[in-house]
Amino acid sequence: MTSHKPIIVAIDGYSSCGKSTIAKSLAKYAGYTYVDTGAMYRATALYTIRKGWLHEGSIDEQALKEHIHEINIRFQPRPNGQGQDTYLNGENVEQAIRTLEVANGASRVSTLGFVRQEMVRQQQQMGEKKGIVMDGRDIGTVVFPHAELKLFLTASAEVRAQRRYLELQAKGENCNFNDVLSNVMERDYRDTHRAESPLRKAEDAIEIDNSQLTPEAQDELVKQLFLKKVQ
Ligand code: C5P
Repeated sequence: MTSHKPIIVAIDGYSSCGKSTIAKSLAKYAGYTYVDTGAMYRATALYTIRKGWLHEGSIDEQALKEHIHEINIRFQPRPNGQGQDTYLNGENVEQAIRTLEVANGASRVSTLGFVRQEMVRQQQQMGEKKGIVMDGRDIGTVVFPHAELKLFLTASAEVRAQRRYLELQAKGENCNFNDVLSNVMERDYRDTHRAESPLRKAEDAIEIDNSQLTPEAQDELVKQLFLKKVQ
């Protein structure tokens, strides 16, 4: 696409709404960097689980707080050019962070103020030069409140659970639909009710309900919204 002054695109919404699909596709089209902030909270959860500080829903907050600055997360494009992987302190954890256990852990550690502060700091640094598409829950409200383009994605809980269920099955993870649906609903509740940066639509965000939209139609819509901002 033609050169333009780079902007920040913030994509927020509920879990399993297809935020990362749309963010990756737009980043590729625009030649922008894609940052999956959910992966950062997941990597933090994995770190916490491995240390034994997150067990049966309870977190050793003090221990995590003391070590929070030892958590270094970065993204690296795959050698074959297809997507990117998440690295936690130098280790490729892309597979390890995509389980239901880690997803649940992420939605817990992400309620902690000191965790969010550290993640937001790293995210703001990644976006310093703009030319970035970032997806998450608080990108348009907290991380980049002045982002030039803000999107807020929604879809019904059933549609989202169905998508996540098919994804997990394709990866060979043994799960049943009702567990996935209750996981989606629990995470929605925690994301919208936490005291620290709860998920909400920024006033200037454009809402897209993609329950009935094909991926192609959504792609086209988002591309047009982006072009309107940069042309
Ligand atoms: O998007 P994803 O499902 O990978 O996110 C994992 C968890 O991280 C979410 O359930 C949410 O609680 C948390 N999260 C967050 N803020 C973000 C991104 C993710 O609190 N910006």
